[in-house]
Amino acid sequence: MQLYDMTLHELSDMLAKRKISSKELTLSVLDRIDVTESRLNSFITIDRQGALKQAESVDFKRSKGENLSVLAGIPIGLKDNICTKGLRTTCASKMLENYVPPYSATAAQKLSECDAVIIGKLNMDEFAMGSSTENSFFGVTKNPFDVTKVAGGSSGGCAAAVSSGEVIAALGSDTGGSVRQPASFCGAVGLKPTYGTVSRYGLVAFASSLDQIGPICKCVRDCAIMLSHIVGHDKHDPTSLNRGYPTFSADTISSLDGLRIGLPTDLYEKCTDPDVLARFEDAVRILEKHGACVKHISIEGIRFALPAYYVISSAEASSNLARFDGVRYGFRADGISGINELYTKTRSQGFGDECKRRILLGTFVLSEGYRDKYYKKAVTASRLLVHSVKQQFENVDLIATPTCAETAFDIGKKVSDPVQMYHSDIFTVLANLTGMPAISVPCGLDKDGLPVGIQLMANSFGEQTLFDAASVIEACVGRIMRRCENDRI
Ligand code: GLN
Repeated sequence: MQLYDMTLHELSDMLAKRKISSKELTLSVLDRIDVTESRLNSFITIDRQGALKQAESVDFKRSKGENLSVLAGIPIGLKDNICTKGLRTTCASKMLENYVPPYSATAAQKLSECDAVIIGKLNMDEFAMGSSTENSFFGVTKNPFDVTKVAGGSSGGCAAAVSSGEVIAALGSDTGGSVRQPASFCGAVGLKPTYGTVSRYGLVAFASSLDQIGPICKCVRDCAIMLSHIVGHDKHDPTSLNRGYPTFSADTISSLDGLRIGLPTDLYEKCTDPDVLARFEDAVRILEKHGACVKHISIEGIRFALPAYYVISSAEASSNLARFDGVRYGFRADGISGINELYTKTRSQGFGDECKRRILLGTFVLSEGYRDKYYKKAVTASRLLVHSVKQQFENVDLIATPTCAETAFDIGKKVSDPVQMYHSDIFTVLANLTGMPAISVPCGLDKDGLPVGIQLMANSFGEQTLFDAASVIEACVGRIMRRCENDRI
């Protein structure tokens, strides 16, 4: 197996034992990018020189016998809405096409302090709005399993890069499913942590009450390692929680005795793809075989989840995106006379269609006369959902659904039908509305060889339970790799 196809923990071990150097590993990944990137378009910015310099510096530290982090020397990619000091951060938007942040996001900073090697910035839907990475100013990212399919979104670049070996692990952001859905489309593991556990400082805001940074990795154990290194209180983020965090682990455990799994059958019976359902049911049976017991549950108000998510996230987005006005930073339109024209032309030319749609929707639902009818109702629905999910967690430990009702779809299939695109998030938004953690782990392939993911959701701070159950599934199903004969990328 090539270095770029190995997992973070395997490579970390090899680095520590000096079987390989970080420079060698970084070159393996950069060479892989040279082969694959023209077909995948996972990256917006590749920092070849910065990465090699960092790798050499880690190798030097190691040669002096310094005590290094497990992440030291590991090539990592960051979604391009995570600010990196001195390295362009675009949010896949013309608005920030040339924006170079003067500071790094706390999560990025933490990785750098662990001596991780930052390879570059990964493609995404503009300002993280989308489910397919087709809304990027820098072009669509393609799925490594089949380049005619989307990689998912909005963290499609992260998932495609991890699954194709362009990076060893990545950090994405998840507001309504953007880490889990692309991970499931690309055969990777993606985790949305409990709201408030990972600092949002330096993550360009989409919907602040829902956004959370999370890892996309090749296996569950790598996810646990990444999470352990990015959690923690941050005085720069007022929603960051000040509590003790364990070191998360995901060593295969053989028994899930006593673990109670809730199946919200009325939610996923809408899933019409027989392969997705069959793989999902196989995965549930694996959990049962290892001692878990399964209960059918019904989450009161679940039908409000998707509409509430789109109302709340658009409302918050319309407010967060107001700062892109052509005055302070970012793109400014040419040939303007007067302040009104400055705003109008800059925003008309700087934002893509989906961002404009959300700004219009968000402004509408917050406007005088409509606020009570839409925004306040959505907030009430969201509170109801928190209440009903908390009630469920008195009787079950995890709630399982497919991550997505279908596997990766054809590029272009949904671009002209936003409502159909929004339905991609039917199973994922609940974790964001309730702030609870959820993981997507591969559970097999469909008849066309495309990955299927199962989503497990836990009560707040239940990440370790997610890792325990997910690693049992992973141990039985195996890592989902690109089929070699299909590895045309
Ligand atoms: N697909 C969802 C949306 O478009 C989720 C996006 C996200 O999680 N960033 O809003």
